Amino acid sequence: MSGSTAGADRTGDGTRAVRAGLPEPVKHEPTLPGPVFAAHFHLPGEVTGPYSYGRDDNPTWTHLERAIGELEAPGRDDVGTLVFASGMAAISAVLFSQLRAGDAVVLPSDGYQVLPLVRAQLEAYGVEVRSAPTGGDAQLDVLDGARLLWIESPSNPGLDVCDIRRLVEAAHARGALVAVDNTLATPLGQRPLELGADFSVASGTKQLTGHGDLLLGYVTGRDGEAMTAVRRWRKIVGAVSGPMEAWLAHRSIATLHLRVDRQNATALAVAEALRQRPEISGLRYPGLPDDPSHQVASRQMRRYGCVVSFTLPTRARAERFLEVLHLVEDATSFGGVRSTAERRRRWGGDAVPEGFIRLSVGAEDPEDLVADVLRALDASAE
Ligand SMILES: *Cc1c(COP(=O)(O)O)cnc(C)c1O
Repeated sequence: MSGSTAGADRTGDGTRAVRAGLPEPVKHEPTLPGPVFAAHFHLPGEVTGPYSYGRDDNPTWTHLERAIGELEAPGRDDVGTLVFASGMAAISAVLFSQLRAGDAVVLPSDGYQVLPLVRAQLEAYGVEVRSAPTGGDAQLDVLDGARLLWIESPSNPGLDVCDIRRLVEAAHARGALVAVDNTLATPLGQRPLELGADFSVASGTKQLTGHGDLLLGYVTGRDGEAMTAVRRWRKIVGAVSGPMEAWLAHRSIATLHLRVDRQNATALAVAEALRQRPEISGLRYPGLPDDPSHQVASRQMRRYGCVVSFTLPTRARAERFLEVLHLVEDATSFGGVRSTAERRRRWGGDAVPEGFIRLSVGAEDPEDLVADVLRALDASAE
């Protein structure tokens, strides 16, 4: 686990992103050292120092963990980050390291589609699971006696937003910890620890790394007992990132601000174009001034993400729309430089209409993408 650099909070997001986690320059060494492939490290005599066995630590993780920490909690040296093999590994590490039989946890009822499986597993271990929708701060009503509140804001795929600071205050007043899934916003969009949360947890598979070529997850939290338990969980379960993935992730973070600014601006342009179309209902993008989430989002988010959600009248229309798009691949996941979209209901998990589309806006030229989406809407109506 690696702390963040104190004082980094005075710099801008782009400046911080390109330098995040870089070691002090060493003559004849590269700016970002290459991936260290090692199952074990030389360790004569006593076990001292950070690197002994590859499931516990790796210098490539250390650089990446510092980078993520500098973005999630700039200027804080009491905060650490741990990277994991995937977002689910990071989420499970927090939930399963903090909760015991008899504890109660509050999960979103409209969150990531694997959460129902997590819920069943927690219940099998004797944890009481309560759930509430993300919008309208409904979690407030089920907080009494809970040990942990799990927030996903904006939620995937419905893009609802809750008031993180308000929920954190209510949870802390009742002695509960708060974790926020920050996947959709990225640390350039939202910094949950500044809003009072105990953990910011995310899938680095999505916009954080942005090329759709690796899986990664992380947990950022205040140093102390809770983070020590998360670290121990990583060692026990061994859901660790490969050095190559960790290095690629770090390399990708150098362009995070460019990708996020471009993709999010285009997402707003796409949402504005979609809003003119009569066949579309349930259009959601937290950056649209009249979106139901906008007011709360604008208080706690600095950027609104690259995902736009909407519903076409029928399943057949949605399938045709996806088929005739040229610049948007029919694929799951989101946040990549190449636009993707999918009919979310095909997975069966989310409580969304048959024609519900989750569109992830990439880094293409905005005019091209908007034109392609409008053309595909016309073509799919025929
Ligand atoms: C994708 C996603 C996850 C899971 O991340 P993986 O890297 O696929 O394990 C968790 N939460 C949200 C909000 C996600 O979108």
